[in-house]
Amino acid sequence: MSSDMHQKVKAAHLQRNAYLYIRQSTLRQVFENCESTKRQYALRQKAVALGWPEDRIIVIDSDLGQSGASAADREGFQRLVTEVSLGRAGIVLGLEVSRLARNSTDWHRLLEICALTHALILDEDGVYDPAHFNDRLLLGLKGTMSEAELHVLRARLQGGILNKARRAELVIRPPIGLIYNSEDRLVLDPDKQVQEAVRLLFDTFRRTGSAMATVRTFRRQNLLFPRRVHWGPQKGDLVWGVLGLSQVLRILHNPRYAGAFVYGRSHTRKTVDGDLQIIQVPKEEWDTLIPGAHAGYISWEDYEQNQRRLHESAQAMGRDRRKSPAREGPALLQGLILCGRCGERMTVRYHCREGRLWPEYLCQRDGIEHARPKCQQIPGARIDQAIGELLVEAVSPVALEVALSVQQELQCRIEDADRLRQKQVERAQYEADLARRRYMRVDPDNRLVADSLEAEWNSKLRTLSETQQERERQREQDRKVLSEPQRAAILALATDFPALWRDPNTPDRERKRMIRLLLEDITLLRGEQITLHIRFKGGATKTLSLPLPPNSWQQRQTSPDVVKEIDKLLDHYTYPQIADILNERGLRSGEGKAFTSRFIARLQRSYSLMPRYDRLRKAGMLTVEEMAAILGICRQQVTIWNRHGLIRGHAYNDKNDCLYEHPGDNPPRKAQGIKLSQRALTKVVSQRIEEVQCEA
Ligand SMILES: [Zn+2]
Repeated sequence: MSSDMHQKVKAAHLQRNAYLYIRQSTLRQVFENCESTKRQYALRQKAVALGWPEDRIIVIDSDLGQSGASAADREGFQRLVTEVSLGRAGIVLGLEVSRLARNSTDWHRLLEICALTHALILDEDGVYDPAHFNDRLLLGLKGTMSEAELHVLRARLQGGILNKARRAELVIRPPIGLIYNSEDRLVLDPDKQVQEAVRLLFDTFRRTGSAMATVRTFRRQNLLFPRRVHWGPQKGDLVWGVLGLSQVLRILHNPRYAGAFVYGRSHTRKTVDGDLQIIQVPKEEWDTLIPGAHAGYISWEDYEQNQRRLHESAQAMGRDRRKSPAREGPALLQGLILCGRCGERMTVRYHCREGRLWPEYLCQRDGIEHARPKCQQIPGARIDQAIGELLVEAVSPVALEVALSVQQELQCRIEDADRLRQKQVERAQYEADLARRRYMRVDPDNRLVADSLEAEWNSKLRTLSETQQERERQREQDRKVLSEPQRAAILALATDFPALWRDPNTPDRERKRMIRLLLEDITLLRGEQITLHIRFKGGATKTLSLPLPPNSWQQRQTSPDVVKEIDKLLDHYTYPQIADILNERGLRSGEGKAFTSRFIARLQRSYSLMPRYDRLRKAGMLTVEEMAAILGICRQQVTIWNRHGLIRGHAYNDKNDCLYEHPGDNPPRKAQGIKLSQRALTKVVSQRIEEVQCEA
């Protein structure tokens, strides 16, 4: 050991601790590179030789297995910096000190702190005093060299990888179903069962055209899919499990199944808080793509077609589904709803009906992944409406008036409180005066008494000033109550809010933003009825119950009033007549359509209304045969007489088949020689009058 080394070590250094920092980048190095670790521990002997007692050499080796590229995750390095900056370190020891930190910033910060706290640095080459310019320059150079070394190493590795990748020779962990043979060539997995499972997946997708349907098919037939374990003690083992949607998508998107070699499908990037972010790169920007590089399960054309089909299905997926910023869709609670059954966030789906979008809230994440039925599915229109009403009510003028009057009440009490505080100030003033007089009256020679009285006087003065300050502070705060214009503005808001809310020109996106300002989230549970647990910002909660909305067939049902009306009309009219009457009155079917004769007939049958024929028979009307028998004429003659008004018939269908009123005691008879039209005159008039009465 050179004398130069001993010169730098002073008594002051020896009084402080020596810190030996030990690090190996990876766990493998820790196990395999024992030599280096031994050398690192051997530095301890150097410190002993320089005069540090054995028990004051502190070894920091908690970073074994951590890379030196950044100090962020290295607890040991951070501890070292802390110890040095607290001035506890006399010397810092490390094998090739620049390896303390592989990052220039971390290294220079350590040097700076060592210089400030007069700590020395020691490596295998010698002792440095960072407070000396020459030493610091040397150490700085060593740090820069070390960083450069890391960069060169990395660039060389990266370049090697890229070169290998461009020749399609880079060994990348193959996906399930592919395997490297003894010559490092990628081949189909010799396990026939695995091969068949992969082939079945591709076949099923080709047949069904949907990843979801593929999962469903596997599930329905209780088929399992293989997976290889990549970590842990079971590494390399084959495990059979249930096929999930994400797995299917991963396989369908992987070009290696088409025999293509690819490299650079994703990039990793470091975020500000040190996390790694994986970014998928579009196909055009892939680093290497060599189709037909090895065996595959499908052709490259098949692969590309699969991509197109997947992309087309993905188009149908809305963006309006996650916990996300407010979007244009009309579902007001988008992104705020939690499932009351499983706790997942619910998503939105829209239905187009009557030219409008109707929202529906769904809990389907788990269902999609495992091709199971949806957890919950609740129509959203009623829920949105209920929440809207709740908000309008919460921001009503009455509610704000109450809040403001409470504030006014508090303001009245302020004056009482201030009077009390004034009293306190007066009292403190009196006590301070008293203490002052006592002090004045004492004999100045009696030092002991005088001192204690003076102390008391001072303390009273302090109390007085504190009381005064407290009163001022309170008055200042009390002055912050609402002024009249402010009150008016708040009350105006209450009237503005419902107007703004209901204004059809307010975009849904703005309405959603308003909701987000007021509500934290909403939990939905569908049972006998729909239960909404609403959490307001600030913690208040409210629970609402809504009846289950009618099913879609119930929504399209013709209203009971219309059915009742048809029942009444059937006494007097045929189906086409009833349809006309209802249409004239502007009534519509449950589906919003105009009535037709056939539709009325269907309603009559499905609601089991008594048919018009039965009604007329019940009222004693006669069939054409009966009428013919009574009058002694043939059937055709009956219809002709009816047409000319000699007898009265009532149509019971749209073919104008009639039932006839009994002709009475004096039935018309055959009268040769008189024209029918002349015989009918009087009768026709009376019949018309009756028809009018019926309608009225
Ligand atoms: Zn759920």
